[in-house]
Amino acid sequence: MEKRLNVILGRQFGETLGTADDAQIYAALAALVREELESRPKIEGKKKLYYVSAEFLMGKLLSNNLIALGLFDEAKTVLARYGVALSRIEEQEREPSLGNGGLGRLAACFLDSIAALGLCGDGAGLCYHDGLFHQTFVGNKQCETPDPWMQGEGWLRKTDVRFPVVLGEKTVEATMRDVDIPGANGGKNTLHLFDLDTVDEGIIRDGIAFDKTDIEHNLTLFLYPDDSDEDGRLLRVYQQYFMVSCTAQLILKELAERGYAPERLHEHVVVQINDTHPTMLIPELIRLLTQEHGMSMDAAIAEVERTCAYTNHTILAEALEKWPMRFLERAAAPIVPIIRELDRRIRAKIKDESVQIIDAHDVVHMAHIDIHYGFSVNGVAALHTKILKESELAAFDRLYPGKFNNKTNGITLRRWLEHCNQPLTAYLETVIGAGFRRDARELEKLLAFRQDEGVLKALLAIKRENKAALSSFLERRQGVRIDPDSVFDVQVKRLHEYKRQQMNALWAIHTILEIRAGRVPARPVTMIFGAKAAPAYEAAKDIIHLILCLSELVRRDAQVNKHLNIVMIENYDVTSAEAVIPACDISEQISLASKEASGTGNMKFMANGAVTLGTLDGANVEIHELVGEENIAVFGRHSDEVIALYESGGYKPAEYAARPEIKPLLDFITGDELTAVGDRESLARLHDNLTKKDYFMALLDLQDYIRVKRALLERYEDRMGWAKMMLVNIAKSGYFSSDRTIAQYNEEIWRL
Ligand SMILES: *Cc1c(COP(=O)(O)O)cnc(C)c1O
Repeated sequence: MEKRLNVILGRQFGETLGTADDAQIYAALAALVREELESRPKIEGKKKLYYVSAEFLMGKLLSNNLIALGLFDEAKTVLARYGVALSRIEEQEREPSLGNGGLGRLAACFLDSIAALGLCGDGAGLCYHDGLFHQTFVGNKQCETPDPWMQGEGWLRKTDVRFPVVLGEKTVEATMRDVDIPGANGGKNTLHLFDLDTVDEGIIRDGIAFDKTDIEHNLTLFLYPDDSDEDGRLLRVYQQYFMVSCTAQLILKELAERGYAPERLHEHVVVQINDTHPTMLIPELIRLLTQEHGMSMDAAIAEVERTCAYTNHTILAEALEKWPMRFLERAAAPIVPIIRELDRRIRAKIKDESVQIIDAHDVVHMAHIDIHYGFSVNGVAALHTKILKESELAAFDRLYPGKFNNKTNGITLRRWLEHCNQPLTAYLETVIGAGFRRDARELEKLLAFRQDEGVLKALLAIKRENKAALSSFLERRQGVRIDPDSVFDVQVKRLHEYKRQQMNALWAIHTILEIRAGRVPARPVTMIFGAKAAPAYEAAKDIIHLILCLSELVRRDAQVNKHLNIVMIENYDVTSAEAVIPACDISEQISLASKEASGTGNMKFMANGAVTLGTLDGANVEIHELVGEENIAVFGRHSDEVIALYESGGYKPAEYAARPEIKPLLDFITGDELTAVGDRESLARLHDNLTKKDYFMALLDLQDYIRVKRALLERYEDRMGWAKMMLVNIAKSGYFSSDRTIAQYNEEIWRL
């Protein structure tokens, strides 16, 4: 490798490893990896999977690819000879901004595992030029700017594949860029990203604003552009139809190239529809089969029904996509007659109005298309699937017994343990051997060492090392310093009221008041937040504002900041996740029970030896079962109680807000100290929201949360006891490997 790197450096820059700068070494390593990827054979199969998703939150790819190619250790050693740390070279790479949070990251973990298991399966999505947005903090508020990640990007390959797509009144030509997805055990798959050459960054003005009606120039500029108005919502439909039309054409083109007739579609193709964004793939495939391949409507529908499977990611009513028919008539006109036909067929069979595709207001329920015309519907954690079957989608479950199934999410431990936590990985190898890198269940071998003082001490020492590393990461990235000997209490995830960052912020206020009253924590606590709020989601932005104001207030208060520090990571992304997760002591997973479908952050933290502080929601329920009551801290109302409260309307936040334990915390939000550093209007709105609406019931669980968090912090002082909890969490995390999840998808849904 040393020789090859020197050859590339000489050819491209006239340098050598001894003389090149970081950017040049990055370019050379990336070129070498691309050469290796090119010579790898594609994974082939009689049946091919297409994983279609509006998001793929890939993270940086250099190390991931080096690991998959088996070149990581060699690269590290070669560079070290020249005094160069591979981790420093990685900082040259810009992370692709093709996702928002858990949904997109799941898709990325799945692509990694599909390739690792040697399954023939490609991803399909869109190539957003400026990603979601880049977040900065200005005046204690979130500020959005474009994220031009494609500049200097090395992993996208231009292809000469072109597809015509009807875009409103015009037909445009779509282009396709590919990203190689190498398998950890050989071979490679591909992520296909569709794009439009006419898209023009020049139309963006102040921040991330642009003309939402200029579809030819804005189509793939941003992921989820502001949908607070009708033009923004219409743009989403344009994006979705564009994505699925390209994907459907690709599927049929490749089917023909592989020598199979469209009449045999379901024998050679399976499509996984990741949430409802790609739903229009179903009518688009039917349209192409009938209009361009001469199949009858009956035959085309029958084929597509046996080809498509749908994953549901949410039970939040506001997140279930519904589009007025007039939107589809403008942005997806070619498939409107097909959707009407699909609706007509259901109406002819089933009278129940609640399961129809087009409702009485001429609004199209996207998930209903997937459920009627897909052969599988899966939830993403045991509790989530149970709620889907028993309440949210119970009518559908009765119609289609056996169609609903569960696939508990997973994460690729190649990125979320082996790469992000190299000290722990190296140490685990010395204790239990390297087998866990191939089969994550082997992490359980660690349980034999739960009484071994040497092992427990080593786990604590590695955690301390990772905390120091995070401290320097944050200092480099945003100039803040944190104390590695404090407790790292971490809540990083998208900002949403159901995830209840506001409840954690109330704990911060509680702690400030406790410290001032002389009740100081046994050890300083560093609260670490990281979250982006959707640009049009005002309540979420108010919560960010509160956290940033609290952070400033504490920073300025010498009495408090000896015991409490609050930092918020700017532009929380995969790269910062990889830095913060190995350093975490307490993993905050405090969503309102029944609202978090699964969560995957919870799994990443667990694998890295953090202890979960959470509600019995999503996959936390399965974590709780696996590690046992004594190795997790749970609190709060259970999902069935919460669902009953919603049904009865019995939750009255004002009653909680008046309690003597809670009122001072709420008053603090609008008190003089905070309004001196913050925006009175935003803080007052947040205060009002909590005391009058509190739709996600933060106050309901607040006192229990404070009680359980206090007890957990006390347990932290029993260092060996804590290390034992860490050990059990790491040992039991193998279940959450996405290799396990993907093996289940394949055995029970895809059958590749
Ligand atoms: C894993 C991950 C998420 C999802 O976190 P949750 O806690 O499951 O919501 C979001 N963003 C990034 C960058 C991640 O890596």
